[in-house]
Amino acid sequence: MDDQDYQVSFPVRGSVLDAAELAALTELVGSGQTLSAGSRRTVFERRFAEHVGTRHALSVTSGTVALELAIHLADLRPGDEVVTTPQTFSATIHPLVAHGVRVRFCDVDPASLNIDPTSVEAAVNDRTAAVILVHYGGYPAEMDRIVAAAHRYGAVVIEDCAHALGATWHGRRPGALGDIGCFSFHNSKNITTLGEGGMLTFDRDEWVERIDRIRSNQPDVELGPPRSPGPPPTPLLPWMRFSEEIYGCDYAHVRRPGTNATMSEAAAAVGIVQLDRLAVMTARRRYIANRLDECIGRYAQVRLHHPPAGVGHAYHLYTFFVEAGRATREHLVRELDRRGVEVQLRYFPLHLTPEWRARGHRPGECPVAERLWFDQQINLPCHPAITDAQLDYLVEAVSAALDMTLSPVDSSPPASLVPLTDHTVTPA
Ligand SMILES: *Cc1c(COP(=O)(O)O)cnc(C)c1O
Repeated sequence: MDDQDYQVSFPVRGSVLDAAELAALTELVGSGQTLSAGSRRTVFERRFAEHVGTRHALSVTSGTVALELAIHLADLRPGDEVVTTPQTFSATIHPLVAHGVRVRFCDVDPASLNIDPTSVEAAVNDRTAAVILVHYGGYPAEMDRIVAAAHRYGAVVIEDCAHALGATWHGRRPGALGDIGCFSFHNSKNITTLGEGGMLTFDRDEWVERIDRIRSNQPDVELGPPRSPGPPPTPLLPWMRFSEEIYGCDYAHVRRPGTNATMSEAAAAVGIVQLDRLAVMTARRRYIANRLDECIGRYAQVRLHHPPAGVGHAYHLYTFFVEAGRATREHLVRELDRRGVEVQLRYFPLHLTPEWRARGHRPGECPVAERLWFDQQINLPCHPAITDAQLDYLVEAVSAALDMTLSPVDSSPPASLVPLTDHTVTPA
């Protein structure tokens, strides 16, 4: 089926924007104030840090840039190892290609598609510099065991939270569970800063200056000790004195050149409004997911992507698993497509993509991730722009397609269906 023919499709936009975002933009344009690095960015960052529960939140221009900077902060050296998941979008670990490190793909937990804490515990060692994980689809990973395993070896834990805005984990939020969180406000994500944007969240004060320098076109530099008394080896010209600290030092270790990753004021102005709207949009995603779970959970040989008590799913992706095998999954996908329901399969296991195969990674390395992607996973549309009428249609179409392929177990709700967790977060 062509994209435009679907009755219910993946979203053109992942979030809802209306007159409130327009008003924020009108106010900005009329204000005559700066359009770059102004007060709206400061407010957005402060509110974001409060929402996530970290000391700091620094905005950048995309989730990819956030991940690049987080990986940079891990100070990777050739020969280091990085432990990560194969079940994510390629940007999660793309920067590693350039770092000359050994990547250890850990298999995933079949219930969540998140990196399996047991395989993380087995993979970490004294060469491990970082553990990079994703909260797949908005289902938070089992962070206590992962963080404990990483910190035993002094490794930095990087959370890719591109799906996880709105999720909760035992009274806390993704982005505050590891050492550094990376968020995306891309058009497709749970909130957007006018199409592109990203955020880094963390507690460590010493990272603020490093990140701020890089994102504002200065190098990440470690300055040497202050110059010894006496005349400088190279006399400073008058114009150099405005920044004597930098121009007047004898030695500087430049860790990384800077770049411009400044979030625009327009993006930040929209981000503030979107963050206010997040709770309502997350509730809508959960409602849609709950309706789908109720319908799909009535069939044998399916498994829901349903978190345990205390864990609140953000449903960036709605996922379920067909356990009846590859042929049944294919049949179901075709039945859904025929009924105007768009299906996607996210994500092709990363260790089997060309950039990682070229580095020696092979089929069989992560058997669970491979089996689930090739035989079982299905992602259905789930986003706040789905109307009630579309949702009714979606539930009926899914149930009709399942009737064609699987048999119902009984009419009572599935045992795995515990009530959805609320948004409550206990303050740190
Ligand atoms: C979207 C996404 C990114 C990249 O974010 P951008 O803002 O598009 O650069 C990284 N990781 C995951 C898991 C994503 O879904």
